[in-house]
Amino acid sequence: MNVHDSERMAGLLEDSGYTPATTRGAGSLMAEAEGADVVVINTCAVRENASDRLYGNLGQLASLKKTNPDLQIAVGGCLAQQDQGGIVDRAPWVDVVFGTHNIDVLPAMLERARHNQTAQVELEESLKTFPSTLPTKRESSYAAWVSISVGCNNTCTFCIVPHLRGKERDRRPGEVLAEVEAVVAQGAIEVTLLGQNVNSYGVGFGDRGAFAKLLRATGRIEGLERVRFTSPHPAAFTEDVIDAMAETPSVMPQLHMPLQSGSDRVLRAMRRSYRSAKFLGILDRVREQIPHAAITTDIIVGFPGETEEDFQATLDVVEASRFSSAFTFQYSPRPGTPAADLPDQVPPDVVAERYARLAALQERISEEENAAQIGRTLDVLIAESEGRKDSATQRLSGRAEDNRLVHVGLPEHMANLPEMERPRPGDMVTATITRSAPHHLIADSGLAGGTFEVRRTRAGDAWQARKEGGHSHAAPGTPDGGAPAGGPVTLGMPSLRPTQ
Ligand code: SF4
Repeated sequence: MNVHDSERMAGLLEDSGYTPATTRGAGSLMAEAEGADVVVINTCAVRENASDRLYGNLGQLASLKKTNPDLQIAVGGCLAQQDQGGIVDRAPWVDVVFGTHNIDVLPAMLERARHNQTAQVELEESLKTFPSTLPTKRESSYAAWVSISVGCNNTCTFCIVPHLRGKERDRRPGEVLAEVEAVVAQGAIEVTLLGQNVNSYGVGFGDRGAFAKLLRATGRIEGLERVRFTSPHPAAFTEDVIDAMAETPSVMPQLHMPLQSGSDRVLRAMRRSYRSAKFLGILDRVREQIPHAAITTDIIVGFPGETEEDFQATLDVVEASRFSSAFTFQYSPRPGTPAADLPDQVPPDVVAERYARLAALQERISEEENAAQIGRTLDVLIAESEGRKDSATQRLSGRAEDNRLVHVGLPEHMANLPEMERPRPGDMVTATITRSAPHHLIADSGLAGGTFEVRRTRAGDAWQARKEGGHSHAAPGTPDGGAPAGGPVTLGMPSLRPTQ
């Protein structure tokens, strides 16, 4: 959700005449900011130590601002919403603070701050414009996120999202489908439908079966090859969604299903209304209908009051679930959440020790599940910058249908071809898995004369056009619009990485 918000900020700024900084992607915040006139930091309160990281980054930027007083610094996202005006009190060199509900005002606020020479702070309490109606600068030409809802009606006691993003607001299916069609027309062949709780999609307009219908309708869009979604909620996960997944060929065999805890007592304290038996039942039914589905999850270790027995229940559910990977978090109180004030906070050394045990268990399972992929021939959608060692290893990287990361060995005759004649990001390569590791697969079949097929796609063409100077930024449903020249922009985009 946050990364998609960053895309919207970039889209809005480009629409207002800004261009990406030439130092973008330089590696560190300071190296990127060196060449920028505007730095936008999109914060995420869900992340651990988010506040420390923000003020650490702002401290670094303060020194840059001394040498370049025209540099503008904007802070948006959840932390800005949470800290309200506190950011300019603590970091008076910040020019603009905006919240999660008013991304649309960012360009105007930058302008005002420049003109008035004073910090601008605007934080709306509720959403005025549905974010997906804003222009979006999509990071990828072959894969796009499309929001189906924002906000959440649940009240998980560890989570700040309902407080910061408000109640769930659903977008009408027609609008969602129009945006999907628009991104497909621009070259995307993969779309991820995005909501805090996609299974409750439709409550806003009185149709409880709306998400399954939306999946089927999205799957019928011509030219769209891969449909993914995130995140479902186990409490609201229904059979019609499993049927729609299984019966819609372009819906990928992948499911991210947040467990959070395997202990029913802890789930109750978290105010998560499913129990571990229900969770495991969903996984069984998904696997019955979609046998190769890769299932991933989120787990919190050390929620207040978690006993060794509770933790053991989590280990048991993890063992039974056979997740392909998991995002695991050590619980740390988020100010403003009910759980932050609970007694019985678990001592940090106990949390760390349990976390290490969970990580080791999931590492073993990930390794075993990935080893079971050896010998399978898979379609890999080549991605941009997924494999850090690709140039050294002469491999390309991308995602299999089940979203596993695959590094594909290039046959010798291809390795020396010019970049545009090799498989491009957005193209599809079919190869056989020859090796595995807990976090990736290797498909070197092409090196020994085995399977290696390339399908050049519209998405690869779109990537090439962008790379060769084409411009693929447009408001949803509108033709591409050119961005006039202006000051460079750099975005600080937080992202979560799996720990095993
Ligand atoms: S379902 Fe729970 S964890 Fe997810 S966004 Fe809503 S309140 Fe937060």
